[in-house]
Amino acid sequence: MNFIRILFRNLLKGPSTDPFPFGETFTPKGLRGRIAFDESKCSGCRMCEHVCAGGAIRFDESPEGLQFTLWHNSCTFCGLCEHYCIPRAIHLTEDWHLAHKQEDKYRMIEQGTVAYLACASCGERFIPPSDALLEKVYGGNSAALTELSRLCPDCRRGLSASRLNTPGAGL
Ligand code: SF4
Ligand code: SF4
Repeated sequence: MNFIRILFRNLLKGPSTDPFPFGETFTPKGLRGRIAFDESKCSGCRMCEHVCAGGAIRFDESPEGLQFTLWHNSCTFCGLCEHYCIPRAIHLTEDWHLAHKQEDKYRMIEQGTVAYLACASCGERFIPPSDALLEKVYGGNSAALTELSRLCPDCRRGLSASRLNTPGAGL
């Protein structure tokens, strides 16, 4: 008899679970979901590729710059890439809509190109530090920093060294 009572009570109460995928559900706060990449903030340090536990990230040289590719189906959502990315060019979103067919796994990717810049002094192409990185490291930008960031590493070192010998020349 007890059993009948429980059955009716539950029938009247309705389902206790979300109707997904036939209806809406919710996203828990702080869920680690789809990775997003912002090429304008990236400085091409490749730390995310180095620390990626799932081997999901790869950078390739291309004529325009460094080509970033992330395969969502290899990502383990460990969050290491976000943790080590100083300018926050890569981060986990709360988007969990990543289900896909096996045949689509090579299309489930995030891509971007970190563009080369020609050195203002020697013309050598290099990946410049992004504004987001300068902001994070120096707390802002300045004319001196902008000038240095337009130079390739060799010319930057040369300029900094020559200024060390010039009292009052700044950076
Ligand atoms: S996304 Fe971040 S960690 Fe990865 S290469 Fe760009 S700046 Fe470096
Ligand atoms: S969350 Fe982890 S596995 Fe996924 S791309 Fe970042 S480092 Fe790789």
